[in-house]
Formats: sequence, C-alpha cells, structure tokens
Amino acid sequence: MSAASTRHVVVVGASLAGLRTCEALRQQGFTGAVTLVGDEPDAPYNRPPLSKKFLAGAWGEERVVLRRADDYAPLDITQKYGVAAAGLDTGRKVVRLADSGEIGYDAVVIATGCAARTLPTFPLGPRVHHLRTLADARRLAPMLVDGAKVVILGAGFIGLEVAATAVEKGCRVTVLEGQPAPLVRSIGASLGSRIAEMHRTRGVDVRCGVSVKGLVGGGTSLAGDVTGVEFADGSTLDADVVLVGVGAVPNVQWLANSGLTVQDGVVCNEDLQADGDVVFAAGDVVRWPNSVFPEEPTMRVEHWTNATEQGVAVARNVIARLGGQPLTAFSTVPFFWSDQFDFRVQLMGRASGDDDTTVIEGTLDSDVFAVAFSRGGTIRGVLGVGTPKLVIGAKQFVARRATLDETVAGLVG
Ligand SMILES: Cc1cc2nc3c(=O)[nH]c(=O)nc-3n(C[C@H](O)[C@H](O)[C@H](O)COP(=O)(O)OP(=O)(O)OC[C@H]3O[C@@H](n4cnc5c(N)ncnc54)[C@H](O)[C@@H]3O)c2cc1C
Repeated sequence: MSAASTRHVVVVGASLAGLRTCEALRQQGFTGAVTLVGDEPDAPYNRPPLSKKFLAGAWGEERVVLRRADDYAPLDITQKYGVAAAGLDTGRKVVRLADSGEIGYDAVVIATGCAARTLPTFPLGPRVHHLRTLADARRLAPMLVDGAKVVILGAGFIGLEVAATAVEKGCRVTVLEGQPAPLVRSIGASLGSRIAEMHRTRGVDVRCGVSVKGLVGGGTSLAGDVTGVEFADGSTLDADVVLVGVGAVPNVQWLANSGLTVQDGVVCNEDLQADGDVVFAAGDVVRWPNSVFPEEPTMRVEHWTNATEQGVAVARNVIARLGGQPLTAFSTVPFFWSDQFDFRVQLMGRASGDDDTTVIEGTLDSDVFAVAFSRGGTIRGVLGVGTPKLVIGAKQFVARRATLDETVAGLVG
C-alpha cells in the first residue's frame, strides 16, 4: 500500500468548490480516503439556475444537481450531508461536527462558501425570502404567480435576475435600491443606470436612492401577514412577496477558534493554503492574493468559474503537500455571467465603481455594449452585454496587464 492511499482528505462544504475538489483529487490520482461534509441535506447542486431556469419553473430539480446519484460511485468518497462542521482543531487535525462527531484528517479543504446576508428588520417568513439555497428556491418559486406583487430589496445581480424571472412569470415587480443606481460599487453608476433602464423597459419598477425601514404587518414574528414594506419617510409599498437580496457573507463562523485568519473570508496565501500547512480553501469563502491584480492585496470572488478553478487547484496542492512536493500558486482572471430577461451580462476580470470606464463597443443607450475597466491606463476587466466574443477575447489582455489602448486596439481596433 502506498503512503498516499492511507491518507485522508476532508472537504468541508458540499457544493461546487467542494465537489470539484473531490473530483479533481481523483482525476489527479489521489488514492486515499476522501470525505465530503455538507450542512445542507441535498447532494451538491448548481446555484445559478436557482434565480433563473429553476425559479422560472422551466427546469426541475434533476437539472440542478451537479452529479446524478449513481455518478458518485466511481468517485469513491464518503458523503456526509445534513451535518455542519462546528470547529476545526488544527493541532489535533480534526474537524468537529455539530452532531458531536469528529473526523480526523491529513489535509482539510474549507469550501463553505457564503450565506445570504440578513437584515434584522426583514426577518424571514412565509412572505419574506432570501435566495441562496435550493431550499430557498423551493419556497420562493411557488410564490411567484401571475399578478403577485413582488418587492426586491437590493439591485445586485441576484436581485435583478429574480426580478427578470418574476416579471416573466407575470408578477408586478419593484426593485428597491439604496444607492443612486444598481451595482454602483461593483460597476459604477453610469453602467448600473443603464442596467436599471434595461429592466424598466422590460417591466420592472426600479427605484434607486430609497431608504427602507422595515416590513408592514408581521412585525418581527414569522407570521405570514406581511403586507408590504415601509420606507424611512413613513410611506409604504404593498407586497405579496419580499425578497431580501442584499449580498452574501462568507460562512466562517465555524472557524472562530481555529487560529486561522478570518477577515471577510478565510485568508489564504497564493497557494490557497490557510495555515501554511495542510489546511486549504476553495471557492466563495477564500480571500487570497491573486497575482494578476497586484493592486489588490487580496480578493474574494463570488463567481461560479472561480469555485471550479480553485477546487482543481487546491486538489493539486493537497496532493503535492501530502507528497512533500512544491505547491503551485493560484492566479486567475475571474469570469462571471448573469442572465436577465433576453440579455446576458458577462464580466472578464475585475471591475469596480472606482475604476476608469471606457465604452469600447456599442453605446450605453443601446442593449449591446462593452465597457473596459482600467486603472492608471492598465486594463482590469471588460464587461459586455450581448458581446460574448469580445468579453472572452479580453482574457488574454487582462491576464498580461495590457494597457487600455492595447486592449482596445486588440479587441475592436
Ligand atoms: C441564486 C444564485 C445565482 C447565481 N448565479 C450565478 C451566475 O449566474 N454566474 C456566476 O458566475 N455565479 C453565480 N452564482 C454564484 C455561484 O453559484 C457561487 O460562486 C458558487 O456557488 C460558489 O461555490 P462554493 O462551493 O464556493 O460555495 P457555496 O455554493 O456557497 O457552497 C458552500 C456550501 O458549504 C455549506 N456550508 C457552509 N457552512 C458549513 C459548515 N459549517 N459545515 C458544512 N457545510 C457548510 C453551505 O451550506 C453550502 O452548501 C450564483 C449564486 C446564487 C446563490
């Protein structure tokens, strides 16, 4: 028996990054034991359809799973679902479980992702929802019926996707945003305003710069008698359904006494190592230095593609670490997409409301355009609506930190 085959890798978080880590461990030849632990009762599933095809009713649950039940056998992993990790003891190399069990490890991968951010003044209830999990989507989907008054707090990508899906199901949808435009911090006010306009012309009432106070009816109980939301000025808006879509927070509470550095995510080094030893992390929960963007000391990325790539990279480093081999730094040009109505927003690289923006294709009063994000003349990202080739083509320019001029000439010159 080889030394590797006696080793045990525990992966905590049974979603995209966790499953991809397990798959990559096997693909890369790891023959030891692998245990996948997840607090959700469901086997790993895909989140993007939850706000789109699944919520719309176009896809059933069988299209949302990441692997069919009978496809797990060749992976040869122990699956423990419905039980949360409650602590990590790096001295004893043990994951403590909420059911009082413990699992020893030779290497552990933290892939606990994010949870929906909550607002104390908007407690969940029969008419007040979040959307992060399949359970959330199962609860929300039947509420989006023809004629239902839907109020969405927060014009982030998930809020906007749900707005589009709900309008297409015949709902009367209002999106409430505290900032002057949707997505101000992530893509800036002018682009955010354009996205808002694209929603308005498709039937969403997007109201920006508004301040909400709380729910009407229902109080802070979980009763189903919520009838709307109240604004800071005392006015109200009727609602049959309220979606609180105000972002996500990393699931790191269970690491409180682990000694790891936790700061809006698990802080890792460039090899995605959290403790410089055998604790690694992958996916939405990770904060790490991405060498493609040295202007950002560390970053955390909540994108599907990043969770997949990091799962593969972490598997490689786990195997290397257990085999006493050198590790490989992980860097990437993040990629993201968002489907809303008949248009798809795509982002290659990084974008921030603080970056310089240049329209490089189309115009901001049309439904097809691309915008470059740069700092000090260096390209950081390209966001496109209806320009997939251009966005994909931008990857090489962002990866090598090309100048804005070179990027524009290369993409549209
Ligand atoms: C509705 C929705 C739509 C999206 N659409 C897009 C899109 O269009 N494009 C895109 O690029 N990205 C999209 N995303 C983001 C994408 O789904 C995430 O980036 C991806 O799911 C991250 O995977 P992850 O495995 O890192 O984390 P997660 O998917 O968050 O999974 C983490 C898992 O760990 C579990 N967990 C947490 N704490 C513990 C614990 N203590 N013990 C055990 N298990 C624990 C969680 O319950 C969860 O199952 C969307 C996300 C959502 C919610």
